[in-house]
Amino acid sequence: MAKSFRMSDNELYDLIILGGGPAGLSAGIYAKRAALNTVLVEKGVPGGQVAITKGVENYPGFIEIGGFELCDKFLQHAKSYDLEILEKEADATEPGIDYHAVRLIDGTILKAHALILAAGGTARKLQAPGEEENFGKGVSYCATCDGFFFRNKTVAVIGGGDTALEDALYLAKITRKVYLVHRRDEFRGSRILQQRVFGEPNIEILFNKVVTSINADQSGVTGVSLKDTQTGDSLDFDAEGVFIFVGFSPNNKVVPAGVNLSTSGYVVTDDKCETSIPGIFAIGDLRQKYANQIVLAAADGCTAALAAAHYIETRK
Ligand code: NAP
Repeated sequence: MAKSFRMSDNELYDLIILGGGPAGLSAGIYAKRAALNTVLVEKGVPGGQVAITKGVENYPGFIEIGGFELCDKFLQHAKSYDLEILEKEADATEPGIDYHAVRLIDGTILKAHALILAAGGTARKLQAPGEEENFGKGVSYCATCDGFFFRNKTVAVIGGGDTALEDALYLAKITRKVYLVHRRDEFRGSRILQQRVFGEPNIEILFNKVVTSINADQSGVTGVSLKDTQTGDSLDFDAEGVFIFVGFSPNNKVVPAGVNLSTSGYVVTDDKCETSIPGIFAIGDLRQKYANQIVLAAADGCTAALAAAHYIETRK
């Protein structure tokens, strides 16, 4: 980070948590239970990616629950411990010897013994011609948010991971037809979702195809052009919507210089979720780990808060 902070004379927190998804809220619950003077900073509505997920079927204790509803339960749980939540955007963090600091976008500086970074990730772009200019005009990264606009229409879903499969299934229930386009001949998503996709008559699977362009006229998206990766053949089809689920990138903008990152930009931690800088922890989808799941994000929050409590104790 190029600029140095000018510290204000404000309160020294025990712990600042950046991000209010399942990981951050879980850390908040454990931090308050450990009696840490804690503030959680969240730029949007608490809940993170899960809040815009239609249904969750793999969070233990809930056979099926809406994403927003599950997040609200996390939030209410955290609030029951009087967790201070600041609805502000963090701009940067700066590690220090006496304390670590966070600068908010409005210029406020927050200080704490320990930081937990829980900023999650953002939907990755396909970088296809026609994608950027038609965002909001047929191109979408959120089936739950935008699926409603494509009732009884034809849509394309691009991707082969859990998100693409789950959202293709969701869209198959409300649209006329879903083309599911994947660049390989095998999905990355879980077996159970694959089975459901293969059994859904409203989904036509197009394997070994890459998008060469998203086509549109003045009113928005009209279709998609593909190329077969095996034969090189071109294929066009009409569609009024294109839902892109090709993974996501970690939100590492506020990760301070000096923290080790993986080649893909995820924060590397030890088994306590501590980064290469003592007292700075990373959790949830921002952290390099085997899988990104809500239950793992919540578990990370627990681990980091307990480890932060121990770290803070040694400093007082
Ligand atoms: P993901 O698992 O990284 O899958 C991304 C998919 O997009 C892959 O199939 C990939 O193809 C494809 N892709 C990537 N770049 C592409 C490009 N430029 N052009 C065409 N295709 C491209 O991402 P995700 O589905 O968003 O899931 C992210 C994480 O959240 C995963 O760990 C997932 O398990 C988890 N998640 C879990 C659930 C659940 O358990 N219910 C639901 C949603 C997400 P390749 O396969 O060829 O690489």
